[in-house]
Amino acid sequence: MVKGLCDPLTHWWDGMLRAIFFDLDDTLVDDTISTERCAELVARELAADRGIAPAELAKAYLDAAIAFWEGLSPGAGQPPKGGIRRAMWRRALQTFGIDDSALAGALARRYDAIRAERVEYFPDAVPVLAALHNRYRLAIITNGFTETHEARVAPLELGRFFDHVVMAGDLDMVKPDPAVFHYAMRLLEVAADESVMVGDRFNRDVEGAHAAGMRAVWVNPHGDPPPAGARPAEAVIASMRDLPQALERIA
Ligand SMILES: [Mg+2]
Repeated sequence: MVKGLCDPLTHWWDGMLRAIFFDLDDTLVDDTISTERCAELVARELAADRGIAPAELAKAYLDAAIAFWEGLSPGAGQPPKGGIRRAMWRRALQTFGIDDSALAGALARRYDAIRAERVEYFPDAVPVLAALHNRYRLAIITNGFTETHEARVAPLELGRFFDHVVMAGDLDMVKPDPAVFHYAMRLLEVAADESVMVGDRFNRDVEGAHAAGMRAVWVNPHGDPPPAGARPAEAVIASMRDLPQALERIA
């Protein structure tokens, strides 16, 4: 038994970092490139005979996907019947005057299969996670659903590094709702002042973490400016490679 963990007189860990929470897409795994490539590949494979240029159908799909993920809000209710991915493809087809649920379903299944094959960590992520997971409790907080993310996270063997993967969509919660972060901290049995959130989306990851009382590291590879007037992240990094140093500064 570790002395002090249950003893209020010896809070030796007060303020110490004990847990690091990570966003998934575009923070740990390369998502943007595979999304675009994959959508066009699938469009070419399954819908080229419908008279739509694959690149255009892919773009319509991406627009539908962005609209879905941007539109997520707490308490928005259950995802569309028949599947989120199918609904996105159906909407993309409708842009071209095609209402074909079966084709949308085929596109969705193929899309998920290809992405599951190709999902990969950013090159810097694995060595950093390997170094951190012996020192901290680690978890992922993603706005995904099991339906949209399970096939992609399984090949990553996240269990090696992470104590928990929180798919907020399944819980009808969504970052930046502080409830998601509180839920994740309860899973790891840590307090907000012992926790840091690492993510690429300022409005969802950084502001959400701050609203829950956590500190935040903003992954900002393109050097984007933060929103005007926003409370700055405690650290800004261009790549996961810089995370260990950033954590030392924060601690
Ligand atoms: Mg992200």
